Amino acid sequence: MFRDRIFEGRVAVITGGGTGLGRAFALRFAELGARVAIASRNAEHLEPTVADIGTAGGQALAVPTDVRVPEQVDALMKAANDAFGSVDILINNAAGNFLCPAEKLSPNGWRSVVDIVLNGSFFCSRAAFPYMRAQKYGRILSILATYASGASPGTIHSAAAKAGVQAMTRTLAVEWARYGIHANAIAPGSFPTEGASARLWLGTPEEAAKRISKSVPAGRHGRHPELANLAAYLCSEYADYVNGETVTIDGGFTWNHPSFDWQSL
Ligand code: NAP
Repeated sequence: MFRDRIFEGRVAVITGGGTGLGRAFALRFAELGARVAIASRNAEHLEPTVADIGTAGGQALAVPTDVRVPEQVDALMKAANDAFGSVDILINNAAGNFLCPAEKLSPNGWRSVVDIVLNGSFFCSRAAFPYMRAQKYGRILSILATYASGASPGTIHSAAAKAGVQAMTRTLAVEWARYGIHANAIAPGSFPTEGASARLWLGTPEEAAKRISKSVPAGRHGRHPELANLAAYLCSEYADYVNGETVTIDGGFTWNHPSFDWQSL
């Protein structure tokens, strides 16, 4: 799909890069030659991924960071630049997700998700900007969800925050293209991770699998390498004319009309 080591010489900062999908991005980008700085609140979530990248011959750095705190986010970009010499790619992946009906969601629950997802993505983008502008090159990729432009019960906080990040992405695309900085987003469907199964999918794994096989035309969950390769494409030279876009990757879930039983055809 890609020429080998397409990210040779590039530095990628990935929030939430030690677990779940963030870890998949970190491993794939490192495999493609990027030096990777991964950031989240808990160092123990970061160290195994840094170690795995090192074992595979890559270079990675763990920077414990709370994306809700602008000073910590500034320090994250500085740490990446000090260690690796630039900040070329930013993946806004950190999130706090839990299902809650709108009427039961507390102000704190709302604030906390909006703070991590919307404020955190903006703080990271603005902190990466000076490095990207100085080198006239930057790629910002934000991880949304299909419900950011649709609707899914129990996700009002996350949906609103991610829709905000989608709007931010379009605005950054038009404001920062002149500096060689592009902003795009991915809206994933269902990709099993510990975080997602603990907080989002109700019922047993068997029940979840049954629901997926009914609602997703592909008949299965997404696979981490499928998502990581899309992220790599959007941050690569192959996507140099793609800017301000959100690409959905969901096995056809978004277009499947719920009242249409495609399995009976
Ligand atoms: P996950 O494993 O729970 O990852 C969330 C990450 O965010 C963790 O590494 C967590 O690390 C970090 N984080 C949380 N609060 C933070 C904060 N304040 N500052 C810095 N880092 C913070 O979830 P995932 O399933 O991999 O999801 C990754 C992304 O994909 C999220 O944006 C999610 O909304 C999106 N997504 C996932 C799916 C799916 O099916 N998995 C579907 C659609 C969208 P710490 O606890 O160490 O801070």
